[in-house]
Amino acid sequence: MSQQTPRETSEYVVIGAGLAGSAAAWKLAQRGYEVTLLERTTPANATSSSHGSARIFRYAYPEPFYADLVKQAKSGWDELESIVGTQLINPVGAVDYGPTRDPRNLANILEQVGIEHELLGAAEARERFAGIAFDTEVLWQPGAGVIDAEASVLAMVAQAKKHGARVENNWPVKSIESTATGYRIHAEDGRTQDCAKVVVAAGGWLPRLLGNLSLPSGFVSGIPSFEVFQEQAFHFPYADSVPESMGAWPTYIHKAAEFQSYGLPGGRDADFRGQKVAEYKGGRIMKDASEQDGVVSAANRERVINYVKTFLPGLIPVPYAETTCIFTSTPTEDFILDETNGITIMSPCSGHGAKFAPLLGDLAADLATGAAGVPQVFRPGSRAASLLV
Ligand SMILES: Cc1cc2nc3c(=O)[nH]c(=O)nc-3n(C[C@H](O)[C@H](O)[C@H](O)COP(=O)(O)OP(=O)(O)OC[C@H]3O[C@@H](n4cnc5c(N)ncnc54)[C@H](O)[C@@H]3O)c2cc1C
Repeated sequence: MSQQTPRETSEYVVIGAGLAGSAAAWKLAQRGYEVTLLERTTPANATSSSHGSARIFRYAYPEPFYADLVKQAKSGWDELESIVGTQLINPVGAVDYGPTRDPRNLANILEQVGIEHELLGAAEARERFAGIAFDTEVLWQPGAGVIDAEASVLAMVAQAKKHGARVENNWPVKSIESTATGYRIHAEDGRTQDCAKVVVAAGGWLPRLLGNLSLPSGFVSGIPSFEVFQEQAFHFPYADSVPESMGAWPTYIHKAAEFQSYGLPGGRDADFRGQKVAEYKGGRIMKDASEQDGVVSAANRERVINYVKTFLPGLIPVPYAETTCIFTSTPTEDFILDETNGITIMSPCSGHGAKFAPLLGDLAADLATGAAGVPQVFRPGSRAASLLV
């Protein structure tokens, strides 16, 4: 008799345990659905976009839409922190400045949305944050901070499990096949898993997977092409090692035509003694995350060191640690959160998705279960498919 491959079943399968997938699994399981979370390696693994201890949580966006979404996301973070009893966002505040960041416009938007903020002159800001050489007016947001990405993923996975979800590590999905009752998920090693509905949250691996998901071609044609960057970040020590001044560093976003940079206290990854600094979209572009090699470019390191010398006099311009991370960007930097025939696609990255994680988990659960809709801007596949009807 031939041996049967063991086959599991589940109401919902979520693919990928980064910030997006773990949030979706948590929210689906919390609503009482049967969930299996399939992860290629382990949650928040070092090759994903959700590893490490530092992502910026900020309200400042040039459109009220996203600023308001952050406001909504904050209640999800408060809920998660209170359930797990751990601080996941360190509220250090944020400064936004630079000729092309337009702090005054950001301040107007935060005013509209009802978020506490202050517009400071450059000299006034230098007095408050002596480590930064501000070159324009500055938007200060006291409610911003640093998200511990890895701790957040682990907390959401733990919550999903607490509500009955099954989590399968080392389960790389190869393809999804449509069946009479839903879908059969195939692993690269031949294992299978049956389910009624699927949420795909594969981060930078999505471009590679998209053609193997049994999605209608009209839907796929609407999904914009992704740019997958291997970003690089460097940890620089604080020049002043007095604990109070080390704790006083905010997160920052500095935009000028020739260089866009962001930085934040690096937390655990940086041994709590330095600022993580990066050039925005300074990394090489790949077809998908499987092409990453984790190698930091010497030219990028040099550019960031020169930036620190000019604009961050409160740091010693010699990095003591460095890392790479994957940005999966759409042309407009809007997220994809779309659904067709029981398959929900989540691509909430474009380098700014971490701060929305609990909210995106709720929105994905709404969409996947049909409980509610999501903003149309997140649904380009459905829009394209409807035009073909
Ligand atoms: C350098 C950097 C800085 C950032 N800074 C900020 C910031 O300051 N503020 C902010 O809000 N956001 C920031 N972001 C964005 C944020 O980190 C991402 O939005 C978020 O981590 C994306 O999570 P994800 O779950 O979509 O992807 P990922 O974290 O990559 O998760 C995808 C998961 O799917 C798994 N997977 C892939 N393929 C398969 C498969 N076939 N089968 C099973 N599992 C699979 C992967 O192993 C991975 O665990 C930053 C990102 C980077 C890289």
